[in-house]
Amino acid sequence: MLKLPAAELFEIPDETIYLDGNSLGPLPSGVTAKLGAMLRDEWGEMLITGWNNAHWMEQPARVADMLAPIIGAPAGSVMMGDTLSIKVYQALAAALNMRPQRRVVLSDTGNFPTDLYMADGLLKMLGEEYELRVVDPSQVIESINSEIAAVMLTQVDYRTGKLYDMQQVTDAAHAADAVTIWDLAHSAGAIPVELEACKTEFAVGCTYKYLNGGPGAPAFIYVRPDLIDSVQPALAGWLGHEAPFAFDLDYRPGTGIERMRVGTPPVMQMTALEESLQMWKNIDMGQLRERSIELSELFIREVENRCPQLQLASPRDPQERGSQVSFRFEHGYAAMQALIDHGVIGDFRAPDIMRFGITPLYIGEREIQRAASILQDIISNEIWRAEKYQVRSRVT
Ligand SMILES: *Cc1c(COP(=O)(O)O)cnc(C)c1O
Repeated sequence: MLKLPAAELFEIPDETIYLDGNSLGPLPSGVTAKLGAMLRDEWGEMLITGWNNAHWMEQPARVADMLAPIIGAPAGSVMMGDTLSIKVYQALAAALNMRPQRRVVLSDTGNFPTDLYMADGLLKMLGEEYELRVVDPSQVIESINSEIAAVMLTQVDYRTGKLYDMQQVTDAAHAADAVTIWDLAHSAGAIPVELEACKTEFAVGCTYKYLNGGPGAPAFIYVRPDLIDSVQPALAGWLGHEAPFAFDLDYRPGTGIERMRVGTPPVMQMTALEESLQMWKNIDMGQLRERSIELSELFIREVENRCPQLQLASPRDPQERGSQVSFRFEHGYAAMQALIDHGVIGDFRAPDIMRFGITPLYIGEREIQRAASILQDIISNEIWRAEKYQVRSRVT
């Protein structure tokens, strides 16, 4: 097993402490060479024959099977492709199809907006009798009843890092005969996930956060093995067809998880991701989680001692947190800009959350201590007040 931290697996700029791997993972060391070789030897040399000769067509399923063990899924139950927003739509449409008598989708106010927007768009298309019911996270379980077709939640809250007990909520949904869809955007590669054991019908997620697949890396969808041959794909793309190259005029869903494909896969992104996933063979998720908790506890202690102006926004109990730590600070945006300018990269989420991803693959005690000390300097000396830190960029 890998000894942590293993910063040599990544190309992180010198003097940078990267606490934003929850938003965009850093560049794994092998990716540049791998991608260069793919461009030169496959696209460049093989041209269109690469679909067969370089196995580009099988790549999404192959990469999905590399990812599956990280989320406790068996081979053949995961497919890569598209973006997470699209996968949310796909999973929800399939879920609604499984409960044709029911009209309500339950989600929570902590969900990432795109998940709610995609659901809202789909339900509006289906008709007025459909409803997206969004409740406070503390009220999800009590809101599950026989009206609910699907419970759609993100396991780790993107702002606070608060973690749902996936088993508990899934069991509650199943007791009411509702389907569950878990968004693992902030879980995959961050905490141990046991999808098959949990018995959720669907899960979706992205690979550019804790899985370090690079900006725009493909998303994934999981379908519980016993349902794979019966789910109805709403996004009935040609590559999810039983025989794409028969060019039939009617759609017949493909075999197994292949039916969750839509169109032409992003081969360059898929290649970068495939290389990034190599390291996970040597990573023990239990050990990773243990280190993440130790480092998070250290960070919280250090920041609370050094910066009394900041308030912890994440749950204090590490068992209720994912792999990020968030603090509230009225001038959080400017403070984060100043921090980035001083070599510590985190991010900001409106209205006042300073967010720090704790990624033990390349962060150790030394980085945590140093980040806390730089943050203290910025807060206690009010360095964030400088004019240049007030300007809002498009991406925060
Ligand atoms: C990051 C994230 C997304 C992003 O969706 P994309 O389609 O990849 O842009 C969606 N949902 C959640 C919960 C996220 O954390």
